[in-house]
Amino acid sequence: MLIDTHTHLDFSQFEKDLTSVIDRASQADVRYMLNISTDPASIVKTLKLTEKYENIYAAVGLHPHEADKINDDDIQLVRVKTEHPKVKALGEVGLDFYRDYADHDNQRKLFRAMIDIASEKKLPLVIHNRAASEETLRILKEKHHDSLTGVFHCFAGDADFADEALKMGFYISFAGNLTFNKSHLAETAGHVPIERILLETDCPFLAPQSRRGKRSEPADVKIIAEFLAKIKELSPEDIARITSYNAFRLFGIGPEPEAKIVYPIRDSLYINLTNRCSSDCVFCPRSRNPVVKGHNLKLQKEPEFSDIVKAVEKYPAEYHELVFCGYGEPSMRFDLVMKTAKHFRGRFKRLRLDTNGHGNLINKRDIVPEISAVFDAVSISLNSPDPAEYQRINRPDFADKAFPALIGFIRKCAAAGLEVAVTVVGFPGADIEGSRRLAKEMGAGFRVRKYNDLG
Ligand code: SF4
Ligand SMILES: [Zn+2]
Ligand SMILES: [Zn+2]
Repeated sequence: MLIDTHTHLDFSQFEKDLTSVIDRASQADVRYMLNISTDPASIVKTLKLTEKYENIYAAVGLHPHEADKINDDDIQLVRVKTEHPKVKALGEVGLDFYRDYADHDNQRKLFRAMIDIASEKKLPLVIHNRAASEETLRILKEKHHDSLTGVFHCFAGDADFADEALKMGFYISFAGNLTFNKSHLAETAGHVPIERILLETDCPFLAPQSRRGKRSEPADVKIIAEFLAKIKELSPEDIARITSYNAFRLFGIGPEPEAKIVYPIRDSLYINLTNRCSSDCVFCPRSRNPVVKGHNLKLQKEPEFSDIVKAVEKYPAEYHELVFCGYGEPSMRFDLVMKTAKHFRGRFKRLRLDTNGHGNLINKRDIVPEISAVFDAVSISLNSPDPAEYQRINRPDFADKAFPALIGFIRKCAAAGLEVAVTVVGFPGADIEGSRRLAKEMGAGFRVRKYNDLG
């Protein structure tokens, strides 16, 4: 399922064939659309569209181009229309110093008025910015508070600008210009975490490269998703799922993902055995929002062997790797890990265990020989080469016994011939080089994981 988070289906370009445009969107798996209004007439038309089509939602707002024309009644209209049940955002609003259709001071005044309504009504902003990045950020920062959020639509900036937007909690939305030949945007999209990216067409504008010059339409989101998949080295299905979840989080559009015990990322299948863990890492979203790459890992009940087998068998044979992972420590259910791993040994080319390395303490015996008899690889989270720092970050149940046990576990896994990757979450201040040296000294591989980057 894909979501086009920025359409202008109320524009005259869609007058004649809107029904076929919407049909083509469904055929391309574009399940929902957020239609963005620009002026008072467009607000009225947008709301009519949402009443006619159940999968179209609305953003109401006044575009900076309108800044010289609008009056207090128009601003009041926006405020009143936010109460419509299908309104999910305030937009599009912002600054446009490129086309320069309106006086800059009037644009600033209008933008501030729109931000105030978004704050009052607790709606996310859909921000339009052209040739006005610094001013847009300045005004947003001046008005910013914890619950003010939104998206920079049709993002055309660089990584530094994206970082500023991300720091304020905003999302970044890419349109068809991401796919243009010689665009610098692929580099920006590579930099922005996938957890903060939305997709849009901005139709009828900015058709992707393969349809450049034509009228764009919501079905084109699929082309943008495929392009982004290559940049992010994820599958198009991963991109669709993650960006749809992002749209759900920001706008409340679409269903909340159901909890999974087996979940695919790229060409691996992951098993979510438990949400219990013998660590309590400071950065772990396990108790708040255990979502990984658009998969909800919050278990209502721990799965049994038969549940897992059934869930794995739903997936086609293409997945080459089976990984025991999830938000929780798999070795807390070590017998089940081994039973499941043995069961699937023949079906997958590779079996991997992702662990915090406390398995020997949890199970009160050396489990490495059992692991190495069945598994190919283990991925072990270290996070710091220093015992005191490890204690502070990982907050293990086993107090000061945890770090030496973890080091012993890593050494044993490496000595047993397992492919070992020691991982560190790259949060600010992490001693990445120290961890890398320690991993090398123990004969293990090394990988820096971005925050929230399981899989
Ligand atoms: S080891 Fe993994 S699941 Fe456990 S608290 Fe740390 S990040 Fe969360
Ligand atoms: Zn715009
Ligand atoms: Zn637009």
